[in-house]
Amino acid sequence: MNLNELTIKKAHKLLVNKEITAVELAEAAFDRIKKREKDIHAFLAVTEKEARGQAEKVDEKILQGLPIPFLAGIPAAVKDNILIGGVQATAASKILDGYRAPYDATIINRLKEQGAVFVGKTNLDEFAMGSSTENSAYGATKNPINTDYVPGGSSGGSAAAVAAGECVYALGSDTGGSIRQPASFCGIVGFKPTYGAVSRHGLIAMASSLDQIGPLTQSVEDAMVVFEAIRGEDHFDSTSVNFDWRGENQNFDIEEIKIGVPREYFAQGIDPVVEQTVKKAIKKLESEGARVKEITLPHTQWALATYYIIMPAEVSANLARFDGIRYGYSEIRNPKSEIRNLLDVYLKSRQNGFGDEVRRRIMLGTYILSAGYYDAYYGRAQKVRRLIQEDFSNAFKDVDIIVTPTSPTTAFKFGEKTKDPLSMYLADIYTVSANLAGVPAVSVPAGPVRSSPPLGPSGAQSAGATSNGAGLVNDLPVGLQFIGKNFDDMRVLEIAKFWELIRDEKTH
Ligand code: GLN
Repeated sequence: MNLNELTIKKAHKLLVNKEITAVELAEAAFDRIKKREKDIHAFLAVTEKEARGQAEKVDEKILQGLPIPFLAGIPAAVKDNILIGGVQATAASKILDGYRAPYDATIINRLKEQGAVFVGKTNLDEFAMGSSTENSAYGATKNPINTDYVPGGSSGGSAAAVAAGECVYALGSDTGGSIRQPASFCGIVGFKPTYGAVSRHGLIAMASSLDQIGPLTQSVEDAMVVFEAIRGEDHFDSTSVNFDWRGENQNFDIEEIKIGVPREYFAQGIDPVVEQTVKKAIKKLESEGARVKEITLPHTQWALATYYIIMPAEVSANLARFDGIRYGYSEIRNPKSEIRNLLDVYLKSRQNGFGDEVRRRIMLGTYILSAGYYDAYYGRAQKVRRLIQEDFSNAFKDVDIIVTPTSPTTAFKFGEKTKDPLSMYLADIYTVSANLAGVPAVSVPAGPVRSSPPLGPSGAQSAGATSNGAGLVNDLPVGLQFIGKNFDDMRVLEIAKFWELIRDEKTH
């Protein structure tokens, strides 16, 4: 059983028809994990025992002839900054080494009610800060398409796990692109819902006004299924919204869709392969009857700077709680430590517990929020954030959906950007605006997707050229991003699904 070939709906059908059991599905995931993990390192923890128990419960229900929801028995992976009660939650940081979550995140709770099977916790950049998963304190994840390349980040473990067939779907968090960019690098679907559509309760906060949880999947339809299961108001998260989603799933006519293509997203710095692939995709949508129009989002050039002020400001506040006393790593337990007083406990635990990127952002954030600089940086960035939000609301007066590349480049090689944080930050140039504006956005492969790379005799994938039989040799995937207006999530997904359909028609 190759999980790469299974979507949620296909697996559900197999379960309902008793062609496979949930325990067998979980075992297929663990077999695959055993074969691929030494090359990919998508997981920080594999929860085999718990998953088996969850799968057995689903099998009992099926045996009793009870109806099961779509996600029942489907193997899922969860980014290690989302809490599953009793399971580790490290956020890929040394400071949370040994920490076990005392409760379930709201979305985990909702998925458990559906009968979800969680196979493990996935790797990420420490506290979700990064674009390559190289900032993990526990070693980088590799791109399953070609292990010389990064899987993107920060949800690189979740994206790699789905792309490698180690699970059917995964959950990630997206503060500035961390679901969409790794999805784009690994050739899968990644969806960031509207801010407030999904509860953040039980997500280890990075930048609370930007963070959203969302799915990473093989298909857009799967992203819809997961989104429908996790969304909705939650009294544990006061920013979650009570939105009436009924009537959102309506079919649409492509000839009535007006697509906006923002000219600022095709400026300097874009890789020509990305540009050509995305433009070809837009042409294809146009030939199907969509109306395409060039638009302008005039404050785009300030988005990255705005993000890299607001985000670290919130990071510095959110990460203040890791003091070496309440959670995980503490200098008190370090026998070689020379702590003399309480301040030493705080300072040394944070110094040794946090990695370079996290400390860089805490320092930046503290500076930005300091009395003398607050107005010049934080206050000003908030004003520009409003202008960026207005860019989107103005654009959506005229168009239904905005289409852009997800990232200016395809996956890059390990070490290529680690020496220069600014070049790493540029990887987020097309994704941060959706977080600043709160709008929903999905990344879908822009070209044909190669199926899972063939396994060598040892289960290892050769890093050399591989072909998927569809004429693709050694290609790294390009992501196409669809951005919609607030709470237009289902429409964004419907249009992305349409794209998926016409894209695949072409290649077969
Ligand atoms: N890559 C971006 C950053 O480093 C986005 C991270 C995210 O979305 N969590 O901040």
